[in-house]
Amino acid sequence: MTCRRSFKPCYDPAKFEYEISDFQDWSVRPLESCSLELKVAFKNEKRLRRKKNLETPETLAFDTLRSRYYDDPMSLSLAEVAYVKAWDPCSHWTNLVTTPRFYQPGLGICLRCPSCGKNGVRVGSNFRAPPRKDEKAWRLIGKMIATGEDMGAVFSSSPTIEEHKEMAVEALRIRSQENYSKAMEWEAEERKRIANTTI
Ligand SMILES: [Zn+2]
Repeated sequence: MTCRRSFKPCYDPAKFEYEISDFQDWSVRPLESCSLELKVAFKNEKRLRRKKNLETPETLAFDTLRSRYYDDPMSLSLAEVAYVKAWDPCSHWTNLVTTPRFYQPGLGICLRCPSCGKNGVRVGSNFRAPPRKDEKAWRLIGKMIATGEDMGAVFSSSPTIEEHKEMAVEALRIRSQENYSKAMEWEAEERKRIANTTI
């Protein structure tokens, strides 16, 4: 673990549209009004659809290229990627976070670190990054990641049954305490009112 920076995906609905699946996968795409490239892609797609009824060699070639873009994007040249992007608005979606259905190291986050450019590791909401110089803590984190520990699950905020029971007891305690102090307040108020009326 050489880079220890933590970062979060930002949420900016004024510039981007978001798609959240039933599995809590997050995808993001610029708003059409904010991206000239996307505007062009929508226009081109409309034009392509009109032609599609004819199924010209051009549309067939594009369909093949587009399938390759979704199945194996690394097999495309930069020019081919640019071509797909210019004609297919769906290709402008970027997958931000994938909730693993089964754990696979590396799967789960498609966000790159703003410092080193490498893919991040998704951690649960309870994760608190240790200080950068805490070698021991970072060695442990590195080991967990290397052994394929699901960091999202380990550091998630879902309580265990025991923790849940403890929280329920604590909630009852707080409530009875609140009721008690409220009762005391009422009593004090009542006493004040009685005192006022007797004067
Ligand atoms: Zn980094």
